[in-house]
Amino acid sequence: MKVFKFGGASLKDATGVRNVASILQKYQPESLVVVVSAMGKTTNALEEVVTAHAKQTGHAQELYEALKERHYVIMRELFDEGDEVFNAVNDTFVEGEWVLDDKPADNYDYMYDQIVCMGELVSSKIVAAYFNKVGLKTAWLDARDVVATDNTYREGWVIWDKTKANTQKIVAPMLAGGGFVLTQGFIGSTSENFTTTLGREGSDYSAAIFSHCLDAEGMFIWKDVPGVLNADPRLFENVIKLDRLSYKEAIEMTYYGAQVIHPKTIKPLQNKNIPLFVKSFLDPDAPGTEISSDTEDTYPPIVVVEKNQTLLHISTNDYSFVAEQHMARLFGKLADLRLFVNMMQNTAISFTICVPNIADRVAKFIKDVSDEFKVKTETDLELITVRHYTQETIDNLKKGKMVLFEERIRNTMQMVVKNIPPIERREVELERAKG
Ligand code: ADP
Ligand code: ASP
Ligand code: MG
Repeated sequence: MKVFKFGGASLKDATGVRNVASILQKYQPESLVVVVSAMGKTTNALEEVVTAHAKQTGHAQELYEALKERHYVIMRELFDEGDEVFNAVNDTFVEGEWVLDDKPADNYDYMYDQIVCMGELVSSKIVAAYFNKVGLKTAWLDARDVVATDNTYREGWVIWDKTKANTQKIVAPMLAGGGFVLTQGFIGSTSENFTTTLGREGSDYSAAIFSHCLDAEGMFIWKDVPGVLNADPRLFENVIKLDRLSYKEAIEMTYYGAQVIHPKTIKPLQNKNIPLFVKSFLDPDAPGTEISSDTEDTYPPIVVVEKNQTLLHISTNDYSFVAEQHMARLFGKLADLRLFVNMMQNTAISFTICVPNIADRVAKFIKDVSDEFKVKTETDLELITVRHYTQETIDNLKKGKMVLFEERIRNTMQMVVKNIPPIERREVELERAKG
C-alpha cells in the first residue's frame, strides 16, 4: 500500500478538490491511505480565532463564522443542496463553537489544539464525501483514534508503540475492506482523548507516521512545485529541481529550515527504507523528486533561508568568562522555553547565539537569566545555509547583505546576515544627521 498527502494548497477551493479526485482516479484499485491538511490558509484563520478567544476581543465567533462560510462556499460548488455532508460538517464546526462558548482555558496551548484541529476535521469530511460522490470508495478515519501523543499541546510527541498498535487494529482492517482510507494530517490525541496537534505544517509528518506503521511501499506528497528545488522559488529565480535526494540530504535540508517538507518527516521513512516522492498536483504525471537511501549522488548548491532571526549577545554581569556552568544554565533555559539555537559562537567574555525571533520566548529568556547575564539583541536577521557551496554562490548570496557571522563545516556554510539599506536611504539619514 501507499500513503498520499495533500496539503492546504492542493485543497484551497472546489477546483482543487476536483483535481485531487482526478489524480486519485488513476490509482483506484490500489490500497491507499490519503492524508489531508486543512483547506488553503484555514489554519492561519483558526489561529486568529484562538487569539481572539484568548484575549476575549469579542471577535472570535465572527472570525469563526467567516471561515465556516468559506467552507460552505466550496461545498455548495461540490455537492447538491441537501447532501448529508452539510450536516456532517456542521456537526464538526459545532464542536468548535462549544469551545468558543466557554471561558478561555488557562492552558493556551491546550485550547489552541481543541480549536485549530477543526481545519483538518472539516477538510477531511468534505474530501471524503466528494471522493465517494465521484465513485472513489473511501472510508473516513479519525486520525485521533490512531495517532497517540503525549500531552505537549501544539507539539505532541508521538507514542510510537501505541500508534503502531492502533494502526494494526484500526487501519489495517479498513484497508483490507478495499477502497481508500482518508484521514487528517497534523492531529493526534492524548491518552485522555484530548486533541493534540503535531506542530505547524505537521501533516507531512502524519503521513510519515502512517507510512511507517503500515510499512508502506512508498509515500507521496503532492505540492504546487515540481518537486524539491535547490532553493525556495518564492525567494530565488533559476532554481533547479532535484530528481533524487538521499534521506540524509533531505534531513539536512529540512533541519536547516527548507519549508517544502516538515523536518520530522524523513526519519520514520528512513528507518523502514520507505521512499518518499514529492510530486506536483498541477502536473501529476511528471516524475518529481525521489528521496531514498544514500547513493553516490552529487548535488548542486542547495540554499535554505530562515527569516526573522535574532542574535543574542550574552555576557556575564560580573565580567567573568562565559564558562561551561554558564552555558549549562543558558541551554537549560533555552530548552525549557523551546527556543532552538540555530548557530552559536563564543569568545572569552561573550557568547552569541542565533534563535528564531519568537518575541514572547526571547523576552522571557532575557528576563529569566538577567540575575546573572546581560543580553543584547539584534533582530530582523536572516540565517542562510548553503549545502555543497561554491564560492560563486556565496558571493552572490552576500550581495546587498552585511554578514554578522559565518561558519563553514565540511559541506555546509552558514551565515547570519542583515539587509543593507538602499544607498539613497542611507544618504537621507546622513543628511538628517547633519541637521
Ligand atoms: P502544502 O500545501 O503541502 O502545505 P507548502 O506550502 O507547505 O505545501 O510547501 C510547498 C511550498 O514550499 C512551495 O510552494 C514553495 O514555495 C515552498 N518551498 C520552500 N523551499 C522549497 C524548496 N527547496 N523546494 C520546493 N519548494 C520549496
Ligand atoms: N494545517 C496545518 C498547518 O497549516 C498542518 C499542515 O498543513 O501541514 O500548519
Ligand atoms: Mg504546508
